[in-house]
Amino acid sequence: MSFEDNLAELEARITKACEKADRQTPPELVAVSKRQPDDRIEAALSAGVRVFGENRVQEAQERWAHRRLQYPDLKLRLIGPLQSKKSEDAVALFDTIDVLDREKLCKTLADAIQKLGRSPELLVQVNTGEEEQKSGVIPSELDKFLTGTCPGYDLSPVGLMCIPPADEPPGPHFALLAKMAKRYDLPQVSMGMSGDFETAILFGATHIRVGSALFGDRDS
Ligand SMILES: *Cc1c(COP(=O)(O)O)cnc(C)c1O
Repeated sequence: MSFEDNLAELEARITKACEKADRQTPPELVAVSKRQPDDRIEAALSAGVRVFGENRVQEAQERWAHRRLQYPDLKLRLIGPLQSKKSEDAVALFDTIDVLDREKLCKTLADAIQKLGRSPELLVQVNTGEEEQKSGVIPSELDKFLTGTCPGYDLSPVGLMCIPPADEPPGPHFALLAKMAKRYDLPQVSMGMSGDFETAILFGATHIRVGSALFGDRDS
C-alpha cells in the first residue's frame, strides 16, 4: 500500500474511534518517522504530514535539520529517552520534548533553553506501569516533580506522555495518565501507538504517536 493509502486508512480509523468516544476534536497525529527510509519520509511530506516523532537526537538531526528550511511549518517531537548531555542538541532541534522525567534533565534542559533562547514545549513522561527498564516518573512521584522540581528550574510542562507495559491491556494506563493530566490542568496527553491508538482516543489522548501503521515496518 502507498503512504497515501495508509494515511487515509489511519484517518478513517481515527474518525471512527472519535465517533465511538463521542469526541468532537480528533487527536493530533504524530507520525513516528524513526528508522524509516527517505522515500517514505518524502511521501509523508508530499501528503501534507508535518508533525513527526523521533526517538534519537542524532538520527533526527540527520533526517530533519536540512528539511527544516524547506518545510518551515514542520513540528518535531522527541519521544525517546534523552541523555542529559544531548540536551542542547534536543532544544535546538525539537519543538516538543515528550520525555522529561528527572531532575538532572530539568537542569540541563533549563540551561540549554537559557543559552539558546529557544523553548520547546515539554511533556513529562510517566512510567505508569512502574517498569524497571522504562524511563518516566512513577505516578507517586509525579506531584513532587510537577509542583516542586519543574518550577524550581522555571519549567512548565504542558502535558504527560506514557508507554504502557507491552504485556498488559493499555486502557487502565491511558485512563490513569488522562486523569493525572486533568488533575494538573495539563492540555496535552500523548499516548497510543499503532497497536493501541484507538483505545488511547477513547481515554482522551490529544496526541497519538503512530509509526508502523502509517509508514510500514521499519528497519530493525
Ligand atoms: C516507536 C515509537 C512509537 C511508534 O510505534 P509504532 O508501534 O510503530 O506505532 C510511538 N511512541 C514511542 C515512544 C516510540 O518509541
